[in-house]
Amino acid sequence: MLKKITACLDMVGCPNRCKHCWLKITPNGKLAAKDLKYVANAFRPFAEILEVTGTYREEDYSDNYKEVWTLSTELSDIKQPHFENISYWRAVRDDEYISWLYSLGVRAAQLTIFGNEDTTDYFVGRKGAFKEILQTIALLIQNKIAPRIQTFIYKSNIAQLQYIQQLIEKLDLEDRCRSFDKSFAFFLHQGSCEGENAQFYDVWITPDDIEKIPRKLVNYTEKYFGVTDIREILGEAEQNLCHQLLADTSTRNIVEDSPVFYIDKNFDVYPNFTTPSTPWLLGNLKTNGAEYIVKNYINNATLAQQTLLTVPLNEMVRRHGNLNSQRLFCVDDYKNFLLTKELHHGIH
Ligand code: SF4
Repeated sequence: MLKKITACLDMVGCPNRCKHCWLKITPNGKLAAKDLKYVANAFRPFAEILEVTGTYREEDYSDNYKEVWTLSTELSDIKQPHFENISYWRAVRDDEYISWLYSLGVRAAQLTIFGNEDTTDYFVGRKGAFKEILQTIALLIQNKIAPRIQTFIYKSNIAQLQYIQQLIEKLDLEDRCRSFDKSFAFFLHQGSCEGENAQFYDVWITPDDIEKIPRKLVNYTEKYFGVTDIREILGEAEQNLCHQLLADTSTRNIVEDSPVFYIDKNFDVYPNFTTPSTPWLLGNLKTNGAEYIVKNYINNATLAQQTLLTVPLNEMVRRHGNLNSQRLFCVDDYKNFLLTKELHHGIH
């Protein structure tokens, strides 16, 4: 018996097709409330505490989002606050949505932009996304919820940061949030190089790009993460990380007593650790059942878990590291990047 299981069911997917999506773009489903109940009943015997959610992609994308929220709360043993990730797709299509978020206690909401309208629509993979984000910012402020802006940066959009800074100033976000006693927040980072985001390896930022980030956006980012140097967030050059990890003979066991499971629209179950993909597949809830899945997880039975447990990091670096690369990575993200290479390209 596990201490806690968090089971997240991808009931309806996501309206966006983001080019940085670490979960990877997969088709949307159309699951119903009864499917969420099925998931909860299946995992209940295997955890002291059960928590279920109706998504691991876009929050509140299902038309019956209020029902899904109420049902998730009823099926869960602990009541979690609503995430600060929200759906701007819904915000501009549903007059009740933002006030509903406020009624649940949401006081800050995160939105992701990549630059101007063309750049943001390109990265979100959907025309009209940028306009929806601007409309949502206005709605949030009307409802006394502070918008928080996130930006993913690559060599290909770093020139857009100036525009983002000007947009924050033009919209007067600091003062408008202050008017209802909230702080405006912004942060930027490159994300982890996994899922769809791995396509940007060739335009991954390097140390010389840091000086191209406007000082004001550096300050916001340092404040948001509580660091004094943005390099703590952007990480180290791949070359340096490779040299360090060549001396690292450790392996990893990711099994914990409170796992989070991602369940896709076909009821395939994955641990929440890097991109859900075949090497991580614990089993299918409908055909294998929850006991099989929980046992596989605990016994490190998936190919990905076996690899983590048996292949030392220095071997993965030797096979997949790039000693000539200045690309910036955080160390944990880089370890996962190497693992994904090991899983998908194997020994060569
Ligand atoms: S990053 Fe989020 S919003 Fe974008 S496609 Fe992935 S799940 Fe959807």
